[in-house]
Amino acid sequence: MNEYDVVVLGGGPAGLAAALASFEQGMNTLIIERENRLGGILKQCIHDGFGLIKFKEKLTGPEYAQRYVDKVLACQMPVLLSTFVLTVEKAGTGFVITLVNAAQGVAQIETRALILATGCRERTAKQVFINGTRPAGVFTAGTAQHLVNIEGYLPGKKCVILGSGDIGLIMARRLTLEGAQVLAVYEAKSTPSGLSRNIVQCLNDFHIPLHLSTTITRVFGDNRVEAVEIARVDENMRPIKGTEQVISCDTVILSVGLIPENEIADMLGVEIDAATKGPVVDQNFMTSVEGVFSCGNALHVNDLVDYVSESGEIAGANAAQYVREATPRQLAEIKMSPDFLYVVPQQININSSNRKAVLYFRSREVRENMRVTIKSGDQVLLSKRYVILRPPEMERVRLVIKDGLASNQIEITMEPVKNKEMAL
Ligand SMILES: Cc1cc2nc3c(=O)[nH]c(=O)nc-3n(C[C@H](O)[C@H](O)[C@H](O)COP(=O)(O)OP(=O)(O)OC[C@H]3O[C@@H](n4cnc5c(N)ncnc54)[C@H](O)[C@@H]3O)c2cc1C
Repeated sequence: MNEYDVVVLGGGPAGLAAALASFEQGMNTLIIERENRLGGILKQCIHDGFGLIKFKEKLTGPEYAQRYVDKVLACQMPVLLSTFVLTVEKAGTGFVITLVNAAQGVAQIETRALILATGCRERTAKQVFINGTRPAGVFTAGTAQHLVNIEGYLPGKKCVILGSGDIGLIMARRLTLEGAQVLAVYEAKSTPSGLSRNIVQCLNDFHIPLHLSTTITRVFGDNRVEAVEIARVDENMRPIKGTEQVISCDTVILSVGLIPENEIADMLGVEIDAATKGPVVDQNFMTSVEGVFSCGNALHVNDLVDYVSESGEIAGANAAQYVREATPRQLAEIKMSPDFLYVVPQQININSSNRKAVLYFRSREVRENMRVTIKSGDQVLLSKRYVILRPPEMERVRLVIKDGLASNQIEITMEPVKNKEMAL
C-alpha cells in the first residue's frame, strides 16, 4: 500500500494551494481529483476578475488556476486524476483511503493527514420547491456555465434567472453576450445575494432588470419550458396573492446558492457547522477529527478565489506541521453575537505554535457604520470599524493570539459606531 504524509482531496484552487504548501514543507504529498484535469470549477469561469488580491492582476479563472497547476507540475508532485474516493477510514495514527480509477481499479493508500478541498455544489430546483411541470430548460447556473463555456452550447434563447447569486449574475452577462435574451433576474430576498461589482458589471451594464422580493412560483411547459409565473413575496418570503404575472420564456436558470460538499467529512464523523454547512475548524483549519483539515469552498462558500487559495495555504502548511509534530489541542470557542451569519474558524487552538489566525465572517444583515470587536474576557484582541457590512461580501481579519488568553472563550460582536467616533 502506498503511503503519504498528506493527501489532498480535490484539485481546485484550494487543493492546489494546500498541496503546494504541504509539499514546500517537505511532505510526501498526493492530490486526488475526480475529474480528468486540475483546476476545479475555475476551468469553466472564463470571465476575468480573478486574482486581484493574490496577484494584483485581473485574470480569468483558467489563467488563475494555471498558475498553480504549473507549480504543481514543476515540482513533480504525484497527482491521481479521474480518481474517485470511495471511503476514508481512520487507521492507527492516520487514514486508509479506498479509491477507484481506470489504471488501478480499486486500490488503497495510507496517509498521516488528509485535506478536504472538495469544493461545493449548487442548490437545484428540488431544493427551492417551484410548482408546475418538469420540462427541459431548467438549469442550475453552473450547468449553464459548463454548457456555454466548455461544451459550446447555448442552453436557451429567452431566459429568466431565479436568484441573484454571483454565478447567476455572471451567466446573465454571458448568455447576453452569446446572443440569448435575458429577460430579468428574480430575487426573493429584499437585497441582492451577489457582489455589488457583479450587479453593476453583469446586470446594469447590460440593462438586465433585477426584481427584488420577487420569485418564480410556477413553471409551465410539457416538453420544454414555455413560461413561468412570478409573484412578489412578503417579508416571510410568502408569495403575495394578486401579484402573479406570467412571463413567456424557454429557459430558467437557477442561482439559488451553493452547499459545501462534505460526504467524506460526514463519513469520518467530522463536526459540521449548521451555519456554513462546512466543518468546524480551528485556526489551522483542522477539523474536529485530528489529522483532517478543510479549506476552500468545502469549508465555507467564498466569494473570492484569492481567499480560497489563502485557506488552502493555511491548511497545507498546518497539515505538514501536524505530521511533523502532533501536539494535544486546547480549544477556545469563538462565540459570535446573532449579528453574524457565521465566523470561520469557529475555534482557536491555544496550544498551537501558530499564533496568527485569519478569520472570515459575514454579517447577517446589511449594517452601516459598525465596529467589530473580538475579545477574550476583558482583553480586546481586535477592534475594527466598517463603513458597511453586507451578507454577500465576506470580511477577513487577521488576529494575533496573545499568550495567556484571559478566558477560554473568545467573543466576536458588532455595535454601531458612536456619533463622536464618526465625526473623527
Ligand atoms: C458553478 C460555479 C461557478 C463559479 N463561478 C465563480 C466565478 O465566476 N467567480 C468566482 O470568484 N467564483 C466562482 N465560483 C466560486 C468558486 O467555487 C471558488 O472561487 C473556487 O473555485 C473554489 O475553489 P475550491 O478549490 O474550494 O473548489 P472547486 O474549484 O469546486 O474544486 C473542488 C475540486 O474537488 C474535486 N472533488 C470534489 N469531490 C471530490 C472527491 N470526492 N474526490 C476527488 N475530487 C473531488 C472537484 O472535482 C473539483 O475539481 C463558482 C462556483 C461554482 C460552483
